Amino acid sequence: MFKSYKYFCPKCDEQLSDHNHVSFHILEDGKFKTSIKLNPKPGEYDYLCESSVQLNMGERLNFHCPACNENLQSDQFLDFVSINMKPTEQIVFEVLFDRTCGQHATYVMTEDMVEKHGSHPKDLI
Ligand SMILES: [Zn+2]
Repeated sequence: MFKSYKYFCPKCDEQLSDHNHVSFHILEDGKFKTSIKLNPKPGEYDYLCESSVQLNMGERLNFHCPACNENLQSDQFLDFVSINMKPTEQIVFEVLFDRTCGQHATYVMTEDMVEKHGSHPKDLI
């Protein structure tokens, strides 16, 4: 059975995900570049963006909340985007993923462990 992952903006608490995607806006030099939809499953890295837009491997992307437009870069880990996952109403996990295009690393921070996903998880946490 498909397990759904729900993600929320840590700044405004809007839901970022529907059943199939987690949506963000990508800004470049403070200007809107494209919207991007990521696979909600940790460890899966396919994405969709507007067809006219090319994302380059190694490019550091600025992920912003589509609702409040805040930059979702982690304060603690500057190469990462920080969003919240809520498995239930009462539980919030922080999810960190590498904002560099092509760098596949995701961390799910639960109360007592860190789950690592991806081909290049770094030992920074
Ligand atoms: Zn927001």
